Amino acid sequence: MKLSKKNLDQRLEHVYDVVIVGGGAGGLAAAVYLQRYRLSCLVIEKGRGRSFWMQDLRNYLGLPSDTPGRTLLQQGQQHVLSLGADYLAGFVEAVHDEGETFAVKVKVGKQDSIYPVFRSKYVVAASGIIDRLPHLEDMQNVYDYAGYNLHVCMICDGYEIADKQCGLFVETEAAINTAFVLNWFTPYITVFTQGLCDVSDAMRQKLKDHGYPLVEAPIDRLLGHDHEMTGVALADGSTVELETGLVAMGSQYFNEYLKGLDLQWSGENLVTDSMCRTSHPRLFAIGDLKEGLNQVSIAVADGTLAATAIWREIRRASAPRRWES
Ligand code: FAD
Ligand code: FAD
Repeated sequence: MKLSKKNLDQRLEHVYDVVIVGGGAGGLAAAVYLQRYRLSCLVIEKGRGRSFWMQDLRNYLGLPSDTPGRTLLQQGQQHVLSLGADYLAGFVEAVHDEGETFAVKVKVGKQDSIYPVFRSKYVVAASGIIDRLPHLEDMQNVYDYAGYNLHVCMICDGYEIADKQCGLFVETEAAINTAFVLNWFTPYITVFTQGLCDVSDAMRQKLKDHGYPLVEAPIDRLLGHDHEMTGVALADGSTVELETGLVAMGSQYFNEYLKGLDLQWSGENLVTDSMCRTSHPRLFAIGDLKEGLNQVSIAVADGTLAATAIWREIRRASAPRRWES
């Protein structure tokens, strides 16, 4: 059932088997499996996550390579609702461990917000990350191209970049090293730092040896039309022509709500076992939020694994059903 401010009261006494934080690729996949294992789950989704920004899912077996992330989300939402899952548009603010259950505090509604608390035996953290983008005065100018031919993921879109003139947008010297991986796909790389980091002499020399120009001037705006970036206008009035771009500026991790729990982290990623269980036995982490490859195929497989591990545990602790005559 779709929950809202109007009807969510009905579920406040209910203890779900699982609350899933994040209704992206991984969270929805977990919900499909959990509901098919006849467990009860609630998916909570804040909206506009990473799979929403994915304009084309280009490498998922069985789907046309121009499938938008939004299609995946819509179909996934319908699928989980048809299986009897609950779905709530809301932002998870905190998860508290109460021993037998978790208390999940949610902000619902941007205006006149309410803060219901839902309870579950297990939590699946499927809240993902979001890519940092070049910060320009007019951010709409960046959003016009980000996810189209201004890419954020080399694994996803290196193929699209192949042999094109590519701008690599970074804010640290370490990220400049992306150029030496990107050159598998294209050697026509121009690195833009916007002057946000110092670049060592050794790195300057390395770029020079490879023939990759380094541009440190601030960017005024991206040039292009119809979601196709064709270059960069610099603050000094000059322009650089490009056919595509890759942003390598790191990510923001949606993990604030977990910070009150004692969990094992690897940087901002959660560490899990092979079934996606974190160091907390009733908390699972899947997809981009956990260590590993950031791909839809992985998030979906993680959701399958986490749901199966949870089912196994709940099933083993339950009395067998007998055929009583
Ligand atoms: P997400 O799909 O990001 O789902 C997490 C969800 O949690 C989000 O919807 C978010 O809104 C929600 N959320 C976060 N915090 C909270 C909170 N506190 N409360 C409630 N909800 C919350 N991958 C590929 O495999 N192939 C591609 O071609 C590809 N192209 C991409 C192109 C772009 C432009 C981008 C940005 C990504 C692309 N990716 C691609 C990567 C892919 O989107 C991710 O790997 C995938 O979505 C990860 O799934 P997830 O479930 O871990 O996270
Ligand atoms: P496969 O898809 O089996 O691919 C292996 C291929 O290798 C086969 O095509 C085989 O012909 C070929 N092969 C084997 N030996 C050789 C050789 N020596 N030389 C050349 N080729 C060889 N999974 C789900 O997720 N959801 C479902 O609803 C679901 N329903 C299923 C229903 C049925 C009836 C069956 C049989 C399976 C179902 N599965 C389902 C399971 C799913 O089919 C498998 O998990 C999945 O196909 C595994 O992928 P795979 O690539 O490992 O193996």
